[in-house]
Amino acid sequence: MKLPEDFDFTQSNLKDYLDCPYRFYLKYILHTKWPALLVDDALVFEERSKAGARFHRLIQQYLLGIPQSRLDAIAEIDPNPDLIKWWENFLENVPHLLEGQRYVETSLSTPMLNQRLVAKYDLVLVQDQSQLVIFDWKTSGKRQRKEWLLDRVQTRLYRYILARAGGSLTGTAEISPQQITMNYWFAPHPEAPISLPYNQKAFQADQTFFENCIQEILDRNEENFFRTDDERKCRYCLYRSHCDRGVNAGDLQGFDAFELDAEDFEFDLDFDQIQEIEF
Ligand code: SF4
Repeated sequence: MKLPEDFDFTQSNLKDYLDCPYRFYLKYILHTKWPALLVDDALVFEERSKAGARFHRLIQQYLLGIPQSRLDAIAEIDPNPDLIKWWENFLENVPHLLEGQRYVETSLSTPMLNQRLVAKYDLVLVQDQSQLVIFDWKTSGKRQRKEWLLDRVQTRLYRYILARAGGSLTGTAEISPQQITMNYWFAPHPEAPISLPYNQKAFQADQTFFENCIQEILDRNEENFFRTDDERKCRYCLYRSHCDRGVNAGDLQGFDAFELDAEDFEFDLDFDQIQEIEF
């Protein structure tokens, strides 16, 4: 399969492929627009995603040095009442963890099999010129399990790319995986972040995993991007009606239980189109 010229592998499109090769094919090869409601309560979902995006922007501005008083004022008038609570949780629990050189909303990439792997980080800290700490902010209602986070494509890709390309942040030729930690901080659960240190064994496993995955995609021809057999993957997929995998969307509660993340869908959805769809 020849991928589009400007195609980069990201956590989002790799996850789509791993969930369902056909979804990957529809979305990134054919660029098929087929909006279906992702969850039953689409307006609540939309609002939750947008509030998550506003919260990310608030932290970004804070890290870039915008005075806190101005950001407090923005948080106080936010239409989503959760946001001010998340903001207070952040201010009480996170700033003391942010020592070091800050790289905010920074993107890194690394080549693999003549393709490009790309990650966009909420924050990377370089501490003592040698330790690299990734922070990822989550607003999902559920604090996910450490084991699940370790297995997540985002965790695997972000730590792997930082090990390959993080020298551009430290000014050194090489980064050892042991220098890297990834922290997930959940705004509704502001206790300490879930911290996932990297190591050489996990790095080797990730390299093999991503190489196999990309090679598999490159080796497939169009008719071999099959629909997943696991129909649970269809419950929150935009192409449900296209695939005749049910017209009813999964519910918002199940969305949390299924451990999907609203922020992952933020840029995938065309809410204007969604509002035109009736079920
Ligand atoms: S509805 Fe199911 S089979 Fe169809 S693209 Fe989505 S996940 Fe794949």
